Amino acid sequence: MNLFEYLEFQYRKWRLKRKRQTVVIRGSCNMCGSCCRSICLHVGGKWLKNNKQFLKAIEEDGLLSRFEICGKTEEGYLKFSCTSLTDNGTCSDYENRPQLCRNFPNPSIFIQFGELPAGCGFRMSTEIDFEKILQDAMHDEGKIKSGHIPEGK
Ligand code: SF4
Ligand code: SF4
Repeated sequence: MNLFEYLEFQYRKWRLKRKRQTVVIRGSCNMCGSCCRSICLHVGGKWLKNNKQFLKAIEEDGLLSRFEICGKTEEGYLKFSCTSLTDNGTCSDYENRPQLCRNFPNPSIFIQFGELPAGCGFRMSTEIDFEKILQDAMHDEGKIKSGHIPEGK
């Protein structure tokens, strides 16, 4: 991650926190296969950037050997295509798919990249995190008394 990406990443995190927002994911998979044809891999808390990291990741999780490097993002992250993807956009090894496939799409994608693959049936948006606001308010009696949350609610 270069300095610019790092600052952008930190800015997205800071903006979410400051606005008390959370990333919300809605929609459903339309089986376009985009994420399986061009996916960045987040392994061990970081996005893979080189072959050495990829080989190490395979050593630790053999399920990742199905991926093949197919390019790089503008930010320098490796892009992979998956050999388990069938011609009709379904996964030929759905039951054994890696954890990162089960987690897709994950809110960390918003913080890191800001968007989902083109054509994806899911969409990401940022919304007020009411749960967080409520939690904060419940721990801050002063807020209740000053009218942020009506007493009795
Ligand atoms: S394992 Fe299946 S779900 Fe995961 S990237 Fe490959 S084809 Fe897609
Ligand atoms: S990009 Fe989105 S809609 Fe397309 S296969 Fe992946 S999760 Fe499904």
